Order: sequence, then structure tokens, then C-alpha cells
Amino acid sequence: MANDISPGPSFRSVASTTEAPLSYSSVRAYLECPQRWKFLYVDGLKEAPKGYFSFGRTVHEVLEALLRPLAESPGPPAGPPRGRQRTLDAFPGGAAKLPGQLMPLETLLEAYRGAWVSEGYTSAEEEERYRRLGAEILSSYWRLLSSALPRPVAVEQHLEATWDGIRVHGYIDRLDRTDAGGLEIVDYKTSRELSEEDARESDQLGLYQVLVERNFREPVEALTLYHLRQLRPLSVPPKGPDALSSLFDRVGSARDGIRSRSFEPAPGRHCPRCEFQSLCPEFRGVPESERAHLADLVDRFARLREEEGRLETELRSAAAELHEAADRLKVHRIPGTGRVARRKPEATWEFPDEWLRPLLEEHGLTGRMAPDDPAAAGRLLKDRSVPPEVRARLAGAGGRRIRWYWELERPAPDD
Ligand code: SF4
Repeated sequence: MANDISPGPSFRSVASTTEAPLSYSSVRAYLECPQRWKFLYVDGLKEAPKGYFSFGRTVHEVLEALLRPLAESPGPPAGPPRGRQRTLDAFPGGAAKLPGQLMPLETLLEAYRGAWVSEGYTSAEEEERYRRLGAEILSSYWRLLSSALPRPVAVEQHLEATWDGIRVHGYIDRLDRTDAGGLEIVDYKTSRELSEEDARESDQLGLYQVLVERNFREPVEALTLYHLRQLRPLSVPPKGPDALSSLFDRVGSARDGIRSRSFEPAPGRHCPRCEFQSLCPEFRGVPESERAHLADLVDRFARLREEEGRLETELRSAAAELHEAADRLKVHRIPGTGRVARRKPEATWEFPDEWLRPLLEEHGLTGRMAPDDPAAAGRLLKDRSVPPEVRARLAGAGGRRIRWYWELERPAPDD
């Protein structure tokens, strides 16, 4: 079912949560803000109910009651045989199922009244508006179905799979058989606006495609967002390898972050609608008892930062003046009253990247030196554990540059 982010999870243990299979909602929430994901999925905090979530849940529940009797499988199928995909014939009743009946419109509307959830509406007027909208949507949809009865393969179907090592799961609103014998994934949406672009870009449909492909032998032939307000199916072809690979990267990045328990806040445009601002380190205030002391500390830190910047500029300018004098007088030692400034050379290396990278890879040295850190090449050149021929190639190919810098020493007795 869509919009399933509202209720917090019932599990609290960090280990069980971070290893649990990932749903589309969970991946989306983590990628948007890991800290909010933790509030929801680890700490088990609940968000306040919202009218549009209650509305979506009610409509989905009634649609399930309407469609399930029409499905080839009247109930969820038994779990898949381990290690192999199902075919449509694996469902109770088999592929050729006697058609079920569409429930009468009055029964449907009665089910709707019974399933209504009043939670989260901002006023009685808003609730009434939604209540009427739902009755209109369901009645129109019922009339549409009564003229062309669908034969879903499955309704509100829970599927789980391992996608290249990542456990994922989801509830699919409806799975249809296409004329060509393949499968069409249908997700109902009660949202106001919806376009074909939304269907094409939908990570949710992409994840469902992966789940269906790993649970059924029949190919997925279409992905559909069904816009209930307009009774309009927005169908697109299944995602190709590139789109699935980029979705896999997003799912993998959420899985890796969750596994490594990286739950940093990611502030952004989504923050104004986040209900956990008062708990979030990005927004929560400093306690009154600490405020004065910490304000002094921040002011001191700011002053030191400014001073640091000013000193750095002054230091660079003094060093440049000393270099100029050293070049002009051809000296490397310049005495002061308490210290002597001594000019010292430091060798740095420059290598063409297209040359250095293959050499490091060829000799298994990539872990010892990043190609964009030429200073490390100087260390490799002196490192006796590096084969001499490699050191010779490094020395021969790199451009050696000398950088001069100043050190301060105690004066010698005759200074
Ligand atoms: S307020 Fe923003 S940064 Fe903080 S948890 Fe919520 S979404 Fe994340």
C-alpha cells in the first residue's frame, strides 16, 4: 500500500532494525534524512496522524475488499518454494480460475463507511470533504469495473526478495496478467496530481518490478500508477538495466548507511514538515542553564578564528618577504634577535594522472598512495619495500619540484 510511512515500526532493537528487509518507504526516508529514519525506525517514534494518510489507507482497504474476490488467487498465496520463482499456476485455484463476482455498489459503500478512519483531519469540514471524495472515487471506479471486470493475479500482495545481497520487500496493490501472458504491476494513488513522468520516474514501481521479477517467472511487461481521482492508468514499460542499476545504487547506499548506523541529520527543504525538529540536533535549542557559558565560548572561538585568519595572512607575507631577501642575497640563514630563520627545501612530485594510476594498480600500490597525492610519491621513492624498478620508473616519469619553507632555530654562538 502507498503512503505507509505514517505508523512507526513496532521493532525497537537497533540490530533487528538495521538488518530488516528494506521497503521503498524506508529507503526513501533514509535517503532524505538518516536522522529522521532513526527517529522512525530505531527509536519507534510516531508521527501525528494525517488526514490524507487516513484517507489513502481507507480507500486502499476498500479496494482490496473489492478486488480480492476477482483475483485468480482469492487470498495470499502460500510462501514461495525456496530458491525458485513461482508461476501463476502456483496460486491456489491455478491459472484458470472461475471468475469471482463484483460486490454490489451498496455493499462497497457500506464497507467504505465501516473502514473509515477519522484520524488526522484538521476539521470536520475537511473530513467530510474527503469522505465525499472517497465515495465518489469508489462509485466511479465500481462503475468502470462493472463494464470490464479485471482479473488480477494478486491483490495487496506482500513480496520479499534478495536483490544482489540486499533484502527488500513491499506490498503490491494489484498484479494483473497481460494479454501477452506477462505481468502488469498496478499501484493505486489517491493524490491530487499525477503524470506519466511520475510513473516513469517512480522508484516505488522499480522496486516492485524487482520483487515481482524475483518471485515470478512471467516477465513484467508494464508498470502502472493508477490515478484514482481521474480513473486513469498511467502505464510505462518496465525499467531497463540502467534505471535498475541506478535504483540499486540508491537502495545499496541506504542499506550501507543503515548497517553502519550512520544517522546524521541531513537538513534541507524537507525539514519544515519534519515532526522531530525539537529532538533534532540541527534544530533543538541549548538549555537555558548552559546558554551564557556557551555564548562566551562561541564568541571566543569566533575571535580566535578571525585572529587565525589575520595571522595566517601576516605569516605568508613575512615568509614571502624573507624568500625575496634570501633570493636577492643568496643566503639560506637570516638571523633575528632571538631566533634564526633557516630556509629548507622540500621536494614534491608531479605525475600525469593517466600515467601514475596504471603503474600504481599494476604493482598493487593504490592502497599506499592516492594518485592525487603526489607528495606521497616522494615517500614511495624512499620506501625500500617498493621494488627498485618501480621506484626508478616513478623517479624517471615524475616532475620533481622544490618548494622552499622557513624553520626557526636557536641562534648559533657566532650569530
Ligand atoms: S529536522 Fe530535518 S535534519 Fe532534523 S531530523 Fe527532521 S528532516 Fe532530519
